[in-house]
Amino acid sequence: KQYVYLFSEGNADMRELLGGKGANLAEMTKIGLPVPPGFTVSTEACREYLRRDQQIWDELRDETIDALRNLEETTGKKFGDRKNPLLVSVRSGSVFSMPGMMDTVLNLGLNDETVQGLAAASGSDRFAFDCYRRFIQMFSDVVLKVDHYLFDRALEEKKKSLGVKDDTGLDATALQEIIEKYLKIVSEKTKEPFPQDPLEQLILSIRAVFDSWNNQRAVVYRQIHKLPDHLGTAVNVQSMVFGNLGDDSGTGVAFTRNPSDGTKELYGEFLINAQGEDVVAGTRTPLPIAKMNEYMPDVYKQFVELCELLENHYQDIQDIEFTVERGTLYLLQTRNGKRTAASAVKIAVNMTEEGILTREDALRRVDPSQLDQLLHRRIDPDVKLDPIAKGLPASPGAASGQLVFTADEAERLSGDGVKVVLVRPETTPDDIHGIVAAQGILTSRGGMTSHAAVVARGMGKPCVSGSEDIRIDLNAKTMTVDDKVFNVGDIISIDGSNGEVYAGTVPMIDPELSGEFSMLLEWADEVRQLGVRANADTPEDARKAREFGAAGIGLCRTEHMFMSQDRLPVVQAMILAKDHEERQQALDKLLPMQQDDFTEIFRAMEDLPVTIRLLDPPLHEFLPNLEDLLVDITLLRERGNDAKELRQKEELLKQVRSLHEFNPMLGHRGCRLGIVTPEIYKMQALAIFKAAATLAKEGKTVIPEVMIPLVGHETELKLMRELVLEAAAEVKAESGQNIEFKVGTMIELPRACVTADEIAAHADFFSFGTNDLTQTTFGFSRDDAEGKFLLEYLQQKVLPENPFAVLDRDGVGSLVKTAVEKGRGTKPELKLGICGEHGGDPSSIEFCHQIGLNYVSCSPYRVPVARLAAAHAQL
Ligand code: ADP
Ligand code: MG
Ligand code: MG
Repeated sequence: KQYVYLFSEGNADMRELLGGKGANLAEMTKIGLPVPPGFTVSTEACREYLRRDQQIWDELRDETIDALRNLEETTGKKFGDRKNPLLVSVRSGSVFSMPGMMDTVLNLGLNDETVQGLAAASGSDRFAFDCYRRFIQMFSDVVLKVDHYLFDRALEEKKKSLGVKDDTGLDATALQEIIEKYLKIVSEKTKEPFPQDPLEQLILSIRAVFDSWNNQRAVVYRQIHKLPDHLGTAVNVQSMVFGNLGDDSGTGVAFTRNPSDGTKELYGEFLINAQGEDVVAGTRTPLPIAKMNEYMPDVYKQFVELCELLENHYQDIQDIEFTVERGTLYLLQTRNGKRTAASAVKIAVNMTEEGILTREDALRRVDPSQLDQLLHRRIDPDVKLDPIAKGLPASPGAASGQLVFTADEAERLSGDGVKVVLVRPETTPDDIHGIVAAQGILTSRGGMTSHAAVVARGMGKPCVSGSEDIRIDLNAKTMTVDDKVFNVGDIISIDGSNGEVYAGTVPMIDPELSGEFSMLLEWADEVRQLGVRANADTPEDARKAREFGAAGIGLCRTEHMFMSQDRLPVVQAMILAKDHEERQQALDKLLPMQQDDFTEIFRAMEDLPVTIRLLDPPLHEFLPNLEDLLVDITLLRERGNDAKELRQKEELLKQVRSLHEFNPMLGHRGCRLGIVTPEIYKMQALAIFKAAATLAKEGKTVIPEVMIPLVGHETELKLMRELVLEAAAEVKAESGQNIEFKVGTMIELPRACVTADEIAAHADFFSFGTNDLTQTTFGFSRDDAEGKFLLEYLQQKVLPENPFAVLDRDGVGSLVKTAVEKGRGTKPELKLGICGEHGGDPSSIEFCHQIGLNYVSCSPYRVPVARLAAAHAQL
């Protein structure tokens, strides 16, 4: 069995065995790039070592020594030689890159004697002593576990006493004194002299790297990034090259493209006369990579060529470590560079245009969930800011505006064109109009799935939730942070991407569908089968959705249209009507308003289908809050001077009480409203067809799809369909316009799924309302589950994921699948879509594709995410 591989024996495909670093060093060696020779002790050896209770066994030792002999031959130097010693680095390298998590030792092989040899061979005492002191420091830290602070302090003291600023200012004598001091620290701390035998140094270092697989940092890193624990790390032993041999030497790190915005340019830093770790350690300020062209133009030119070669070879942006030794360039590492969403998109598209990638490769390179970053206004990342408070990053994007404490205030001010940030202890569905009106939302309570968070994400509004640093006094209308008091009208800013809160305004940049972004999405459109629509209730949202590439509206909710200040009284009159006549009067007033709503939405969505859901929520949501009423009545009674108002309020209270439900989610809502009070749905249907007829007269094509919510029994849909057809016929007779339309239902109850064959007989389409379907399948009330026991469920791994965020394939998904099969069984041409929040989640979108839905519908801001996710599902 082979445990040790020379760089010349491996290649990039051997990642699992050699680790990422080792495989790429081998690959670069194979294609003839200037890589200092070396060998890799495999991850398999690491696993075996851990299995043997952290002992190096004879065969491994022998194989390592063989590889070392080979290295001596290649380099013409000898390990432990007094005249021309071979020095090596010992570097960790796991299968998945874990930058900085594990340890590296440089200049191994030095001791009191070989350091003299190095001095003689290089012609520089200073250089040799510099290497030795670095080696003692790193080896003691990594292998002997002597606190590195002790060495740092000794070095600093020396520099101070000599009055030099940089390490480079220390001469050979000073360095020699430092070495003596270092050796003393080691023998004091370990009670043993510093190991002088190079082979012992090597074996100890290999063990230390193996052991570092299980150090705290590495374990935590793997937890956070969900990486497996059993793989182990490889160890790379590589002959040293020296960037600290004078001004014609140096070391650096560079990305082949800008990892932050994707621009095709070298992006990186380098240091003259330095060894690798100096660049990251921040002991000296490095120079921008382009400056290298001034210091060593020939080497720079060669480096640029090699970067290009590597990028082409790996077909991806590379993150490269290099060192220059007396004018000769060496490559020490390459890996695929980590990048932001903006950069990922630009790089994928540019590389396709450059002929490096195919379009499908480009699509695969970009993670749909990453795109979220690009679709919100955000704070200029180049500016450094001081937050006053922190909360949870509940909905990405940034917002600035005047502080307001109530939804009504938010609506009023924003009506006057003032930008506001709504600050609440927490939000409830009653605050929806304030959330709509505000630039962003800040709450002091509630988690990432709190009402404010969910609603804000749905609308693409920035939100910071659960900021315990702020104290809100709703009576005094103040927000206090530490000792500073903020009042209504003070400007604050929030960043929903990191949960930070700032006083005053901050510099912001707009979300852009950059040229590359649009291009990538067009490629996604070519590939995908699954349609993408948007959930939109207003003309603005509809336009936004269209701009982002939605092929129609999959869910237009009508209840928000009833909520605005001017309509609410009419809606209330309609609900509280004593008789049919009074109700009809109110409905007659509402009809033209609804008609206007639909006209504008249809106009924005010309030529595209618009699915309109008839009224869904229980009616008491439109009435005053019970507790508020009680307070009002008590006050009126105390004052006792307005008998009329008191009587009215008492009457109202009676009606509010009579509409009260113990469990409104399962109460009198959805099509149940339409069955009991058909006038409401009739009015809505009339408004839809009248609006359509108006536009048809203008010569425009509109495609209304009327959706009946919460159907559980076919008869419900049958009756409601008749009602809608009646309205359509009336409008046709009156306007003379023949409108093409569909009538369908939202499938959101388990009974609807299992009787979908019967329901399909009355439906032109199904749209899966997976929010309610998840509630009714699990028997969870979302508001009571999220942020409460569901958190516990996730922590205890009772459920793998929040089923309201990621569709539960086994349960809810299986019902959806049943409904798809049964529905199409009855009616093969049945259109099938999904309009729950899952419609914007990549994993759920993949499932929708697999079970053969026609489209997903999601919030306008997630349309680009869904377009790409749908393409991924296809690839
Ligand atoms: P990390 O994974 O933390 O980057 P590395 O093993 O890549 O650790 O090494 C740390 C630094 O030492 C890097 O800057 C690297 O380029 C440098 N280095 C590693 N091996 C050698 C070598 N053989 N010669 C010169 N520099 C080296
Ligand atoms: Mg490295
Ligand atoms: Mg529903």
